[in-house]
Amino acid sequence: MGVNLQPSQNLVILAPATQAAAARAVTRAAYAAGARSVRTLFSDEGLERIGFEMAPEEALSEFPQWLADGLTQEAERGSAFLSIIGGDPDNLQGIPPERVTLSRRAAQKALQSFMRLQMSHRVAWSIVAAPTPAWARKVFPDLPQAEAEAALWQAILRTSRADGPDPVGAWHAHIRNLQARKSWLNGLGIRSLHYKAPGTDLTIELPPTHQWVASGQARAVGYPTSPNIPTEETFTLPLRGGVEGTVRSTRSLSYAGQLIDGMEFTFKAGRIADFRASSGEAALRDVIETDEGSHYLGEVALVPVDSPISTSGILFYNTLFDENASCHLAIGAAYPTCLTDGGEVQSDEDLLAKGGNASLVHMDFMIGSPELEIMATTTQGAEAPVFRQGRWATPLQG
Ligand code: ZN
Ligand code: ZN
Repeated sequence: MGVNLQPSQNLVILAPATQAAAARAVTRAAYAAGARSVRTLFSDEGLERIGFEMAPEEALSEFPQWLADGLTQEAERGSAFLSIIGGDPDNLQGIPPERVTLSRRAAQKALQSFMRLQMSHRVAWSIVAAPTPAWARKVFPDLPQAEAEAALWQAILRTSRADGPDPVGAWHAHIRNLQARKSWLNGLGIRSLHYKAPGTDLTIELPPTHQWVASGQARAVGYPTSPNIPTEETFTLPLRGGVEGTVRSTRSLSYAGQLIDGMEFTFKAGRIADFRASSGEAALRDVIETDEGSHYLGEVALVPVDSPISTSGILFYNTLFDENASCHLAIGAAYPTCLTDGGEVQSDEDLLAKGGNASLVHMDFMIGSPELEIMATTTQGAEAPVFRQGRWATPLQG
């Protein structure tokens, strides 16, 4: 599952130092599964914060190219990458957002070739989570520390469908469902989607060569992977210039250490013409002003409101979980794998030429609710309900 480690493959683990125990457990499991070598690159949130507080601006706007090149090199020699997340959502509280943006842009720029390999799945990667003390306190502020961590473990395992007697079997069943839903959507031949909900009246055209994708399918790397655990989404990309109307977010978003809430966007010919947020608007503006591509959407994802993350009612303060609670859209880069001819995409220009969006950023925001209705118009001009009251409009066949 996850990176789907192959015999004699190298594994690179990326994790905060607070995840040392999880990294050791994964390392043991990886060797037991036949890994050739397992190496962990630890980061440290405390050090990160000190840098944001004290480093001169010119240092913040530099990302070590040797590190980015090293990751690309590892990816090109076929290593798999596993990120273990679960840091302190408040680690960057009080840091001026423009300092965070400066450093994030530098990282995104330096990591562009690595990200391209990831987004086209020419490298096996996955993201999983394990509780850390600060994260558990944030999610369950009313529980004593030990109980909060236990509760977060339980929430992670439940939403990852790993709390039953046969987690691997449960994951396989889940993936079969996602794949069946993906095939149903691809069979509809959708030209555009119309979203309707309180504060939302949005039409999204899809490129002619779009395809819906979901976890667990075969990848350019040569075998199936699940890039996110948990995952509930079936997703594709919008036509860059084909988004019209207004959309309102329905859940808080914790992005790069900032909490953004109550977002509203107006789109004209695909571009964000107007936006606001009831809190975190400065952070949102920084994201949107990153480059031209961050004024456009790059992802359309469908998640029913009866998914386990959604029904848990928990705000995880972490996109891996929170985006999977709900239908979402993403500002910024599209995944080339969402195009049937995405294998030809070698550059941003290729992606743009096929109707996709390119950007240094990719920021998911949630728009699902029990009021959300989504109607598809097919290439034949027929209407097909996709979502009713926040759920799939039709049951899966078979
Ligand atoms: Zn998504
Ligand atoms: Zn996304």
